[in-house]
Amino acid sequence: PSDLPLLQVDAVVKRFGGFTAVDRLSLDIRAGEFFALLGPSGCGKTTLLRMLAGFETPDSGRIRLGGQDISGVPPHRRPVNMMFQNYALFPHLSVRDNIAFGLRRASLSRAEIDARVAEMVALVSLDGMEKRKPEQLSGGQKQRVALARALARRPRLLLLDEPLAALDMKLREYTQAELMRLQRQLGMTFIIVTHDQEEAMMMADRIGVMNAGRLEQVATPRQLYEAPNSRWIAEFVGGINIIDGEVESRDAGRVTVATQAAGQVTAAAPVQALTTDQVCVAIRPEKVRLSRGEATSDAGDAAGINRLEGVISGISYLGGQTRYQVRLDRGALLSASVANNVRREVDAYDKAERVVVCFAPDDC
Ligand code: ADP
Ligand code: MG
Repeated sequence: PSDLPLLQVDAVVKRFGGFTAVDRLSLDIRAGEFFALLGPSGCGKTTLLRMLAGFETPDSGRIRLGGQDISGVPPHRRPVNMMFQNYALFPHLSVRDNIAFGLRRASLSRAEIDARVAEMVALVSLDGMEKRKPEQLSGGQKQRVALARALARRPRLLLLDEPLAALDMKLREYTQAELMRLQRQLGMTFIIVTHDQEEAMMMADRIGVMNAGRLEQVATPRQLYEAPNSRWIAEFVGGINIIDGEVESRDAGRVTVATQAAGQVTAAAPVQALTTDQVCVAIRPEKVRLSRGEATSDAGDAAGINRLEGVISGISYLGGQTRYQVRLDRGALLSASVANNVRREVDAYDKAERVVVCFAPDDC
């Protein structure tokens, strides 16, 4: 990816009547980037993509591509293509004509169009299906026709609106890998919309999380998961335990919090300065360690920091991991996930068994 952003979205607003679907949203996308837009249904993801593609006009704000303001440039003149959520194939046209559709307006010769279609058919492995109509295709094949059609004009920026939502899990995983391969091979910039957090993490260089028309955080998958910048993000991206409390003391990069449901909890001080004493401490289930009370080499554990007692109240076996619910003596219900690896004989607990729960301040 180069330094100059390919796409610059600057304080863009889109209203439908009195409803603000996209709310002063700003975002830079680098050339060659694989960017995922993640967010719950109705948060404005499709509306944002439609403005980038030129199907909707922002009420205010600016969209620049390669430094040029593209407001007023009609969709088919933008170096941007969009693959729609429902694929939007033309039912009466063959695979071949669906793929060629966007090329007809691009003043290419018949031979150039034929060559480009053949290239796209090979790229998405649809060889032999050129004459079929959409109704003669499976869901996965329709998805690939839509992708080939979107790629055919060789856009600089490809927008994919929930392209994998209708596929079964195996096909989805396969197609995720295919999209990553295509994006690298073609050297294009992709913005993919998904409401699936794992899918976003699996594919994207960076993820923008949208909520109610706003971008709440833009970060790498790791930053997003390990350093969410709000309670909402922490809860939206992956499982998390959240304990509410009040700051008791702060020193040397740590904050000690008095909580009703878990007693005293110590966390690494957050990056942003705390502006209030009312806080919540958040810890991922896989960072919660269970034991039968035996001492560990963990320094915090030895000093009794974040060492809480409780009872196993629920067990869910999930294959690679087991998810335990622990009811702390103080009342909080914590989720702890334990990898089902070589230590499984040691790390398996029974329902109603008393356990000690531990977690490091740095993991909070
Ligand atoms: P998402 O793709 O994140 O699910 P959308 O961008 O489709 O969300 O929609 C965001 C909000 O804007 C929704 O509440 C939706 O009902 C509303 N909306 C979208 N398009 C229109 C429209 N053409 N007219 C009125 N409301 C719309
Ligand atoms: Mg949508």
